[in-house]
Amino acid sequence: KADLSQPVFRVRNLVKRFNSLHAVHDVSTEIHHGEVVFIVGPSGSGKSTFLRCLNLLEEPTSGEIWFKEKQINRPHADINRFRQQVGMVFQHFNLFPHLTILENITLAPVKTGRFTKAEAIAKADTLLKRIGLYEKRNAYPQQLSGGQKQRIAIVRSLAMNPDVILFDEPTSALDPEMVGEVLSLMKELAKEGMTMVVVTHEIGFAREIATRVMFMDQGKIVEEGTPDHFFDNPANPRLRDFFSKV
Ligand code: ADP
Ligand code: MG
Repeated sequence: KADLSQPVFRVRNLVKRFNSLHAVHDVSTEIHHGEVVFIVGPSGSGKSTFLRCLNLLEEPTSGEIWFKEKQINRPHADINRFRQQVGMVFQHFNLFPHLTILENITLAPVKTGRFTKAEAIAKADTLLKRIGLYEKRNAYPQQLSGGQKQRIAIVRSLAMNPDVILFDEPTSALDPEMVGEVLSLMKELAKEGMTMVVVTHEIGFAREIATRVMFMDQGKIVEEGTPDHFFDNPANPRLRDFFSKV
């Protein structure tokens, strides 16, 4: 259940420009604990840029991003500490090819001092058992299927005990038969109350697990609401047009 008293993220008038292009154009919103927020919209509408601003992979041009009562896009903010609390899962896994699965999962928790090596290994093993990939712990990423790699990428972010995980099209690079295993892991996390922000074209999946859906177009959030409201009565013509194509 979403806890509306506790924003994880508070975004105020966020703008990200690339030269004259407004990739994100005056976005304000809040993400609360336990929410599963899906962001949908046409290609180039600013979804990835918005996610990347949320964890400061992109520096906002203007506006404010607050994370748990602290503004993070200001001078001297503790960005490293902040990043440890925000997981990110990309389309292309970004596992280190020269490290084993276990090393991939334990690297950040140990390096950042979040967990001791023994703690990190124990946690990684628990997570690997949970997703049925414990026997792959000493394998290298290239020995895994795309679906397995993406589940490892999700587990790698879980290993940091994040407050929120941001997903940018986590299934769009996968062969169709591997999409299901990744979606079911995400669904489990949502059920357990993990706060998630998900960019995806899997509209049916959004309808199934989202607590809120946002539609972005030309850098703006042009409509948002519960999945039922959203999919049953899209008010915005651009949104209707988008749905007729997906
Ligand atoms: P989406 O994820 O919705 O497809 P993006 O956030 O990737 O959209 O892109 C929004 C707009 O910003 C697009 O016009 C894209 O070309 C532009 N853009 C994204 N990243 C950069 C960049 N690093 N430099 C210049 N333009 C960019
Ligand atoms: Mg994108």
